[in-house]
Amino acid sequence: AAKQTGEPVRRWTPALDERAGEFVSLGAEIRTAIDSEQFRVVYQPIVELPSGRVAAVEALVRWEHPARGLVSPAAFIPVAERNGLIVELGEWILRTACHRLAGWRAELGDRAPDKVSVNVSARQLARPHFAATVAAALADSGLPASCLAVEVTETAVFEGGQAVVALHELRALGVRIALDDFGTGHSSLGLLQTVPVDILKVDKSFVDNVTEAGRHTVIAEALHQVSSGLGLAAVAEGVETAAQAEALYRLGYRLLQGYHYGRPVADPDFALSAAIVTTA
Ligand code: C2E
Ligand code: CA
Ligand code: CA
Ligand code: CA
Repeated sequence: AAKQTGEPVRRWTPALDERAGEFVSLGAEIRTAIDSEQFRVVYQPIVELPSGRVAAVEALVRWEHPARGLVSPAAFIPVAERNGLIVELGEWILRTACHRLAGWRAELGDRAPDKVSVNVSARQLARPHFAATVAAALADSGLPASCLAVEVTETAVFEGGQAVVALHELRALGVRIALDDFGTGHSSLGLLQTVPVDILKVDKSFVDNVTEAGRHTVIAEALHQVSSGLGLAAVAEGVETAAQAEALYRLGYRLLQGYHYGRPVADPDFALSAAIVTTA
């Protein structure tokens, strides 16, 4: 059925599936979904302050299931990680995102974002030739390596080994490394000593209450100080209100991402954001 504008999308959740007793089938369906092109990639702006320019976009995968409707990546990415299909799906996402930014650069020139940021799972990173896969995607799309960032979580690099080797190889290519959901893991600060990192993505949980004087605000400020002290960029995630954006700006944040600036969509608007901080 055609979706009406504004109609809420029915979101499939694991709880829903478990009730129906069909959790196992999801894994098999991912195979079919790759083959029949049910996945697509959407892009969420990362806005630079105070200009309001869209400096980068984060690529996020969507699954438009013919029967279930829109399935959340929080539900199917863990399944794809367990059955290994994340490797194939992840490579497709990477290639799609590189081609997309190369297309915007050709079409929009200076108005295109500088970078696309692609989420990479632990399983992808642990594969011996991951950096070569990335190099091939860049070569195929014609996108310069400096226009790509990979987002990895603390848990993906926690154990060191091949994952950290891969990050060094990516760095050597000129690809940027972002630590995702920063501050939520067990060893966030420790990792900064051992893992090559360019960008910290400060988790939404620190942003949610940043307008109130309290622990979250103290931590958000400290995380920004760590990033600037180490010469890293900091992106605040999950910014939903102008008040949060202003509070973050006052703490020193200059790169913000969240519904306040734009939801992830197939075709984002790269015009200057109207919702610029007032720097009160
Ligand atoms: P993430 O990498 O931390 O991505 C940010 C999530 O927060 C996205 O959810 C995004 O839509 C959502 N978000 C952004 N701004 C706001 C906001 O202001 N408020 C709220 N409430 N949410 C906001 P999404 O797209 O559902 O993705 C969920 C998670 O699934 C991602 O978390 C990531 O861990 C994973 N994921 C998504 N796409 C991919 C992918 O292409 N590859 C891999 N490996 N994982 C992916
Ligand atoms: Ca991410
Ligand atoms: Ca995140
Ligand atoms: Ca997350």
